[in-house]
Amino acid sequence: MASPGRNEPCPCGSGRNFKHCSLQAQDEEDSQRVRLRSAEGVLVPALFSYAAQDFGEECFDEA
Ligand SMILES: [Zn+2]
Repeated sequence: MASPGRNEPCPCGSGRNFKHCSLQAQDEEDSQRVRLRSAEGVLVPALFSYAAQDFGEECFDEA
C-alpha cells in the first residue's frame, strides 16, 4: 500500500488533492500547536508586565 502523494486525490474520499485536504489539516494542527506554545512564552511575561502597569496606575490615581 503506497502512501498518497501530495497531488494525488485524498484517500478520505473527499475528491480534493491530498495536500488540500488531510495534509493541510495536519499542517494547520501543527502550526496551531506551535503558535500556542510560542504564545505561552510571550503571553505570560506580557500579562505580568500588564498587571504591574495596571497596579501602578491605580496606586498613582489614589495618591
Ligand atoms: Zn481528505
